[in-house]
Amino acid sequence: MSHTPPESARFAFTERVNCPVCGRLDFQILKKSSYDETLGEHELRRMYSASSDTQLLDQLVRCKGCGLVYLNPRIKQDIILEGYRNAEDPLFIAQNEARILTFRQCLEGIMRRHGVSPGTHPRVLDIGCAGGAFPKAASDLGFEVVGIEPSAWMATRARARYDLDIRAGTLEEVDFKGERFDIITLWDVIEHMADPATALQRIRSLLHPHGLLIVNYPDHESLARKGLRSRWPFFLSVHLYYFSPATITRLLNHHGFQVRETRPHWQKLPLGYVLKRASAHLPFLGMFAAMLEHRKMGMRAVSYNMGQTLVVASREHG
Ligand SMILES: [Zn+2]
Repeated sequence: MSHTPPESARFAFTERVNCPVCGRLDFQILKKSSYDETLGEHELRRMYSASSDTQLLDQLVRCKGCGLVYLNPRIKQDIILEGYRNAEDPLFIAQNEARILTFRQCLEGIMRRHGVSPGTHPRVLDIGCAGGAFPKAASDLGFEVVGIEPSAWMATRARARYDLDIRAGTLEEVDFKGERFDIITLWDVIEHMADPATALQRIRSLLHPHGLLIVNYPDHESLARKGLRSRWPFFLSVHLYYFSPATITRLLNHHGFQVRETRPHWQKLPLGYVLKRASAHLPFLGMFAAMLEHRKMGMRAVSYNMGQTLVVASREHG
């Protein structure tokens, strides 16, 4: 006999949120929630691990004030955070070599285009550093890096593997004891943050006045999203916000940042891994992944862009 929790139990796990960009709670529904009514708290907590493949089940809305697309209502913050704290993802961490290469090339480009170097901007903070790929790439280029990561499992492995300053905890929890940074990065992180507005305020206070903020995010206005529509692979229950160049610029400006550059972010990953992740949305790709694995071609790195957008912003003075 199946047990269906009463309606009130399901609502105990969700919360309504105001738009973090303009503060309004007035929206148009783009897609209704499609949660299985019988999902219990245990399943919800399991779903919220960092690179969870769970397709978007929550209600997707567009703010009538500023146009931001986001989840509302959504699963409560403490459930989301607990998922990240307990995240263990050997498959994710196994792809670190390709991630390090992506970050190295990306950072070299930023250094060239923005006149940044370890001489001018020595101290870097990477928020949500997962397996430590970006801290490793930045350290190899001569920067002095601190990484923070809510998952103790990931932080421990990253620290041991690369011998870097990786601290377990969230941006709210880690005590920086007056430390300041020249560059702060959020790689595939801002769309996961329950409260990006408060995070940006904290980031601003941690940045030197000449400092740079580097953010990438899945762009709701990208061609990939428009072409793939509901099959866009970034539509996931763990992605709470779907920014566009306009909405992220407005959010950054509001918190004292000036956007200097917006461009597509190309990621290198082993082909087998890309196909395996994508097969959650397009099941036939799973067959290709298995075929590549069989022919030992799965580790060949491919560059792909599915709508990830890179933003480089500077701290406004004052
Ligand atoms: Zn809004």
